[in-house]
Amino acid sequence: MQLLKDTILKEGFCLPGNILKVDSFVNHQIDPKLTYAIGHEFAQRFADEKIDKVVTIESSGIAMALPAAHELEVKLVFARKNKSVLMKEEAYTCDVFSFTKKESKQVYILKKFLNKGERVLIIDDFLADGNAALGLIDIVKQAGCEIAGIGIVIEKSFQQGAQKLKDAGYRLESLARIKSLENCNITFMD
Ligand code: 5GP
Repeated sequence: MQLLKDTILKEGFCLPGNILKVDSFVNHQIDPKLTYAIGHEFAQRFADEKIDKVVTIESSGIAMALPAAHELEVKLVFARKNKSVLMKEEAYTCDVFSFTKKESKQVYILKKFLNKGERVLIIDDFLADGNAALGLIDIVKQAGCEIAGIGIVIEKSFQQGAQKLKDAGYRLESLARIKSLENCNITFMD
C-alpha cells in the first residue's frame, strides 16, 4: 500500500532491537486519513471472504481495525490485557509474550462476544515474531470460530511471524512488508 509505505519512510524511524517507531501515525498520534485508507484496503483484500467479526488486541490494534470493521459492516472485538477484579464474566484467555515490553501477559475476550461458527478477521498493527497474532488465533479457536484471515498493517518480514502464520495455513495480508531495518535503513520487500 503505497500511501502507507510513503508515510513509513517519511515519519518512521528505528530504535535498537529492530523496532520501527511509528508513533506519529499509528501508536500514539493517529492519522485518520491514512487509517481509513488502511481500513478500506483491508476490506477490499478480504472482500471475497465471509467475515462475521473483526478481532484485534489493545491498544494500538483498535484504531487500525475499526475502519475495516466499519466498511465490512461487522462488530470489532479487542482482546484486553488487564483483567479487572470487577470482571466476573467468563472469558477466553491466552498468554501473549510482548515483543516490545519483553514480558508475558494474559489477554482475554469475554465469551459473550465470540459466537461459535463465526468467521473472524484478525487485524493488528505489527507482525514481528507472531505471538500476538497466534494468541488471538488461540482465543478465536477456543470460541469455536474460524479464522477468515489475518490483516497486518506493518509486517517485519525479517522476523519469524509471517512464516509461522503461512506455515500454519492462514491467509495473511500485510499492507507494508519490511525487508530490513539494518543500520536504521528502512527497506521494503517489494
Ligand atoms: P509479535 O507478537 O508478532 O512478536 O509482535 C507484534 C506486536 O508487538 C504488535 O502488537 C506490536 O504492538 C508490537 N510490535 C512488534 N514489533 C514492533 C515494532 O517494530 N514497532 C512497534 N511500534 N510495535 C511493534
